[in-house]
Order: sequence, then structure tokens, then C-alpha cells
Amino acid sequence: MKREPQRTCIGCRRVRAKAELVRLVRRADGMVGIDRAGAAPGRGAYVCPAPECVEEALKRGRLARAFKGKAEASEEVIRLGR
Ligand SMILES: [Zn+2]
Repeated sequence: MKREPQRTCIGCRRVRAKAELVRLVRRADGMVGIDRAGAAPGRGAYVCPAPECVEEALKRGRLARAFKGKAEASEEVIRLGR
């Protein structure tokens, strides 16, 4: 039986199927954007497409911890949490 790839949401920390999560990717300038195709180069992190998870993920230090370095949410990520 084929197992679906799973990832952890950086908001609620639940493990879910990768396909159910939104991939965030940090660009070279440290800004974190949404990787809609799920294949952008760079370190990725995953979050449920739910405002409460995005809000949690945007709390101080969460993104930096997920990306192991400087990371700042871009407007499109902030909007995802509204
Ligand atoms: Zn979540």
C-alpha cells in the first residue's frame, strides 16, 4: 500500500497528508511566501490552510524556528491567516 507523504503543520503541530497542507517557502531574501505548486526551491514548511493555524505560525519566532534562521512572512502569507 502506498503511503501518502505527511508533514507537520507549524501552527497546530498536527501531522497531516502533505496534499492537505499549504507549503511555505523562504526566498533568498528571507521573506516567506506561499509555494502553490509545492515545488519551489528552498527550505519549506507546512501549515494547514486554516486561519487559526496560520495565525499560530505567524507568532513571534515560529517561522524563524521552522526555517532555522531569519524568516519574515510576506503579505500573501499574512493574508492567508485572515
Ligand atoms: Zn494546523
